[in-house]
Amino acid sequence: MTKLILIAVGVLVIFWLLRRALAGARKGDDAPPPGEAKGDLVSCAHCGVNLPKAEARSAGGRHYCSEEHWRAGPRDG
Ligand SMILES: [Zn+2]
Repeated sequence: MTKLILIAVGVLVIFWLLRRALAGARKGDDAPPPGEAKGDLVSCAHCGVNLPKAEARSAGGRHYCSEEHWRAGPRDG
C-alpha cells in the first residue's frame, strides 16, 4: 500500500513539474526580447549606436545612423 502512495506522490510531482515547465515556457514566449519590444531598432554598422530602423540609412543589409557613417561604411570592414 505504501508503494501505491509513493507512486501517486511521484506522479503528482511529475505533473507539477510539467505544469511549471509549461507555464515557464509560455511566459518566455509572451515576453519578447528587450531589443525587439520597442520596435525595429537597428545599430549603426559604423559607430554601433541604436536607432529606429525607419530613421536609419540602409546599404547592403547594414544600417547606419547618419549619411556620414553611411558614406564611411562599416568600421570593421
Ligand atoms: Zn553611426
